[in-house]
Amino acid sequence: MTTSAPIDVRHLIGDQWRSASDGATFETRDPHDGTLLGQVARGTADDGRDAIECARTAFDEGVWPKMAPKERATILHRVADAVDEHREELALLETRDGGKTITQSLHAEIPRVAHNLRFFADYVAMAANEAYPDGDLLSYVLYPPAGVVSAISPWNAPLMLATWKVAPALAFGNTVVLKPAPQTPLTANRFAEIALEAGLPPGVLNVVHGYGGEAVAGPLTSDPRVDRITFTGSSATGVKILQAAACNHTPVSAEMGGKSANIVFDDADLDLAVPMSLRAIFGGNGQVCLSGTRLLVQNSIREEFLERFTAEAAKLVVGDPKRPDTFMGPLIEEQHLKKVHGYVELAQEEGGKVVVGGERLTGAEYGAGSYYPPTVITGLTNESRTAREEIFGPVETVLGFDTEDEALRIANDSPYGLAGILFTDNLNRAHRMAAAWKAGTVWINTFFERDLRLPFGGEGISGLGREGGQYSREFFTEPRAVTIRLRR
Ligand code: NAD
Repeated sequence: MTTSAPIDVRHLIGDQWRSASDGATFETRDPHDGTLLGQVARGTADDGRDAIECARTAFDEGVWPKMAPKERATILHRVADAVDEHREELALLETRDGGKTITQSLHAEIPRVAHNLRFFADYVAMAANEAYPDGDLLSYVLYPPAGVVSAISPWNAPLMLATWKVAPALAFGNTVVLKPAPQTPLTANRFAEIALEAGLPPGVLNVVHGYGGEAVAGPLTSDPRVDRITFTGSSATGVKILQAAACNHTPVSAEMGGKSANIVFDDADLDLAVPMSLRAIFGGNGQVCLSGTRLLVQNSIREEFLERFTAEAAKLVVGDPKRPDTFMGPLIEEQHLKKVHGYVELAQEEGGKVVVGGERLTGAEYGAGSYYPPTVITGLTNESRTAREEIFGPVETVLGFDTEDEALRIANDSPYGLAGILFTDNLNRAHRMAAAWKAGTVWINTFFERDLRLPFGGEGISGLGREGGQYSREFFTEPRAVTIRLRR
């Protein structure tokens, strides 16, 4: 697979690279300049069913679920090593397919792919099972794998998020059908190819491609042979998946949208809070579920903070994501740019003022790319649609507050509850806020740090369930209680 000629992107079912059953394809293009990168199999319902059948057979009759965890760990470590060996190739593929900066792909996301694999391989091999001796009774817990897992992933961190599902699913002994987002199918296929070469048995990981609302997605969410569905994507899609899964009572883990608050108190170190807050909204091209999209600044420092924040935002380098000095690449596609810009227009209709950015970037450097600048909006309240709905672009809504109670009330006044970011040097306040914040993750004086032992997920419409460490074990296994009466 090269990155220069368009790639023939097929499904992987067992050890077969297959076209769609009806031969249909769709295109994946580089959002930087529109170059055609691949013709992708547009999966049919039959393709979905075939992949599930293959995963089912690999689970029911194959060696993978029966292997000792340490044997699976050995293979998963080999896959992780192979990912490291192909880091540059995978990073470039990711950057071309989705517009993620090469710095992020190379130094954060592809290394995290290998880390996902190693972490869960080791976790399963080393995790303790509970035992409860009670007189003549001895009870203990077994964690057999759940079975066949459908993994449905989004485009904004394609392989990192795909392996955040695939790695624990495989490590706990399941077999998988992965459906990457249609915008970014390339790294999933290359990863699957690398995994097969590294010794993953055929049929254990299958990959199908296609649009979500279409044919291929149907079986992945409603076929009774699927035992678990792990989904990352928008809250609206999450509802559809939950509805489809309900007919078979299939458990779903859903990591969905966000509208997180980033709160800066007047006792915060602004040399830390300004650059971190910029990263928290404009990093990842502004297309990050965890972004601090509502920036709450205490009114006593509002002017000073905003002066520094907007000056720095205007200086961020936007351009070709393959350049090492680029901070923000293009948005994923033209249609998404229109949605993001639509929200900026809405913000102005709602009485907001655009103080930085607000118009798509044009000119020779940006060519046919879907480039949108860092955008900062003031003058709105938390009741505005701009402050309540997920924009999923580089658009910051700035709100003011006077007291801790007010900040917390605004932060929690959202249908979402994914993350909270807080800058303060007041330790008591930090702990008070963390305890009262409706968010799956709270970061204090930092952002985006992820220890994979921690629960990850969201409250409200941001999520259902948690994954990470023991929380992934709960989801990807069928915990079984065993009680034996000892005979004297
Ligand atoms: P999306 O919901 O449009 O699509 C996500 C995946 O679901 C894609 O693979 C898509 O093809 C598939 N899909 C869509 N409709 C489907 C259906 N009816 N049945 C089965 N599959 C279907 O989301 P997106 O635009 O790809 O990603 C952006 C969204 O993801 C944002 O809302 C963002 O906040 C969220 N996200 C959340 C997290 C998290 O950890 N909470 C992480 C990254 C992204």
